Amino acid sequence: MQTISRLPLLRTALDALRRAGGTIAFVPTMGALHEGHMALVREAARQADHVVASIFVNPTQFGPNEDLAAYPRRMAADQSALAQAGVALLWAPDAAEMYPSGFTTEVRVPSLSTMLCGAHRPGHFAGVATVVCKLFNQVRPDVAVFGEKDWQQLAVIRRMARDLDLAAPAPGRIVGVPTVREADGLALSSRNAYLDPQERLQAAQLPQAMAAAVAALRSGEPESRVLGTLRDALVAAGFAVDYAELRDGDTLETAPVLTPATRLFVAARVGRTRLIDNMAVEGG
Ligand code: AMP
Repeated sequence: MQTISRLPLLRTALDALRRAGGTIAFVPTMGALHEGHMALVREAARQADHVVASIFVNPTQFGPNEDLAAYPRRMAADQSALAQAGVALLWAPDAAEMYPSGFTTEVRVPSLSTMLCGAHRPGHFAGVATVVCKLFNQVRPDVAVFGEKDWQQLAVIRRMARDLDLAAPAPGRIVGVPTVREADGLALSSRNAYLDPQERLQAAQLPQAMAAAVAALRSGEPESRVLGTLRDALVAAGFAVDYAELRDGDTLETAPVLTPATRLFVAARVGRTRLIDNMAVEGG
């Protein structure tokens, strides 16, 4: 696997890959890789002939009081995991390469970016959409693979690609991969490294309380009561709840009645760590 951090070299390496024939699947990440990321890499390998991954801790998607400086960085371990998984090329630019002096353009998807996480992290999704738009233009993949753990992010990226008629990845070739979880249900996340042993035990109560809420909804309990019970359970478990809401999975609009697209979305903080998760209400 080649690791590349300069744009002209990326272009040369991609040209060489393309000359060798075949299609390219792209997996963007912020590194500190775990099994969730590796599931995306495996899906990418199923989707195309060559896999290109990126590691870029994107400063513009972190708020001023967020964890940019503390975000885990494990480049050597990440490189060997990606190489072992058969990734052809790792794109790992630094911030100066991504945002050269004078950089000013921003991509915003307002309708999907102002609710849920967007309401608690102003500017976050503009940072995500802008960097992913740049990454798509830099790599020009046939397919791009993202995790459903960050469901709102996936919705924002799909809308951006559609609204801007992005040609690469090809229309409709933004693939979502189901959330990979620990045995106790906690969604894998690079940020789980922040949890101390006590907080790690608490953290598992987030997906467990969400699964109980989904079961209650399926058994016909009214939504408002279920959401109230869920919030109470999370507060009792020591969480500060940013939101716990039912939304349409496609539009992210509030879901007054349950449909097959309805999902439960939660963001809650344990200690200094913010956890997010989402689950389908019907059909698992
Ligand atoms: P990140 O490095 O956290 O920016 O995540 C990079 C990609 O991995 C995004 O598409 C995430 O949605 C995805 N991802 C992160 N955690 C998981 C997980 N537990 N299961 C599936 N995909 C994940």
